[in-house]
Amino acid sequence: MRLSRMLGEIEPQIVRQLFMKAKEYAGVIDLTLGDPDLPTPADVSRAGCEAILQGKTKYTANAGLPELREAIAEDIKRRLGLSYDPQSEIIVTVGAMGALYLATLCLFDPGDEMIILAPHWPNYTNMVKMCRATPVFVNCYGAENIAALRENVLAAVTPRTKALILNSPSNPTGQVLPAEALAGLAEIAITRDLTVYSDEVYHSILFGGRAHESIAALPGMQARTILIDSLSKRFSMTGWRIGCAAAPGSLIAQMTQMQEHIVACAPMFCQIAAAEALRHGRSAEKEINGAFESRCTVMAEGINQIEGLRCRMPEGAFYLFVDIRALGIPSIDFAFRLLDAERVALVPGVAFGPYGEGYVRIACTVPEDALRAGLDRIARFVGTLSAR
Ligand code: PMP
Repeated sequence: MRLSRMLGEIEPQIVRQLFMKAKEYAGVIDLTLGDPDLPTPADVSRAGCEAILQGKTKYTANAGLPELREAIAEDIKRRLGLSYDPQSEIIVTVGAMGALYLATLCLFDPGDEMIILAPHWPNYTNMVKMCRATPVFVNCYGAENIAALRENVLAAVTPRTKALILNSPSNPTGQVLPAEALAGLAEIAITRDLTVYSDEVYHSILFGGRAHESIAALPGMQARTILIDSLSKRFSMTGWRIGCAAAPGSLIAQMTQMQEHIVACAPMFCQIAAAEALRHGRSAEKEINGAFESRCTVMAEGINQIEGLRCRMPEGAFYLFVDIRALGIPSIDFAFRLLDAERVALVPGVAFGPYGEGYVRIACTVPEDALRAGLDRIARFVGTLSAR
C-alpha cells in the first residue's frame, strides 16, 4: 500500500510509548497519562445509561443536540460573561481533540504557520502537520519567558502565520498565563490579524482560589478566538468524548460541515450525559478540583525534598513539571531508567517539544497513597544517580 508522505512528518507519541512499555512490567505506578482515576459523577453516568435505555442512540444534528449547545452557552456566560448563540456559534465535538482538529482543517492551507506556545501538548504539532501546515514554537514557561512573551511571539509572526494556540492552565506545565501575557497576545492577534485558539480544557482545575481568565473576554477578542473546551477533565469524563468549540458563526458553520464528513456527530447519549454534567455538576467539579489540588501539593512538596529535583506548585491542571537539569541526564533516559529500576512511569519533557527537555512530567492521576509510594521510588532512583 502506498501511504501518505504526511505520515513521515508525524512525531512519535512518546507518552504512549512509555505507557505501552509500562504495561510490560508488573507493579508499575503509572504517572504518564492525563486520564484521571476519579469516577464520572454518578448522576451523569445515570443520565447516560437512561438515555441508552430510552433509545437515544441515534445520530444528532452535526453541531450537537440543541439542549447541550444551550447548556454550553449558559456555562460560558456564567463563567466568563460572554454571550454565544447556541444555534450558530457553538459546536459539540468528539472531545476537545475533535474541536481542535476541525478548526485547523477549516483555517489552514498548506504552508500556513501556527504559533504554538510551548512546552506544549504534543497533539498540537501533529494536528497542524496532518493539515499540511507548519508549527512554530515559542517558549512561554517560567517568569522570564512570560516577561518576553509578547516580543518573542512578535518575532515568530510571518506573513504565513494564521493562528496562535495557547493552553492555560497548561498541559504539561500546570502554568496559568497571567492577565498581562494574555493582553500582549491579544494585541498581537489584533494588529497582525491572527486567530487565537484558546484551549481551556483545564479551566476548572485551578489552585489557590484562582479564577479562570479567557483571552476571548478581552476587548476585540471574541471575534477572533476559538474557545476550546471539554468535559473530559472537568467532570472526569475522558471516555465519553465530549468537547466543544465556541467561535464566530462563519467558522462554526464550516466546522459543522467538516464534522459531517468525518464523524457526523458526537454520540447522542454522551451528549445527554454532558448536558446533565453542565447543568448539575457544580459540586462534583469542585470536588475534582480539590482532589487535584491536594494531590499536587503532596507531590510538589515531596519532589522538592529530593536533592537534584525541583518543581513549582502548578497553578492549575494536574501535572507537575519537574526540573531534572541538575542531574545532567536527558529526560528520555531518566524516564526509561526510572521505569526499569523502580517501576514508575512518567513522561520525559522532550515529548512536549524542544522546550520540554530538562524536565519530566508527572500526572497526579492516581490516588494519594500511590503518589507517595511513587515519591519514595523516585527518591531512591535519584539517589542512585547522584551516588555515581
Ligand atoms: N487539550 C489539552 C491541553 C489536553 O491535555 C487534552 C487531553 N489530554 C485535550 C485537549 C483533549 O481533551 P479531550 O479528551 O476533550 O479530547
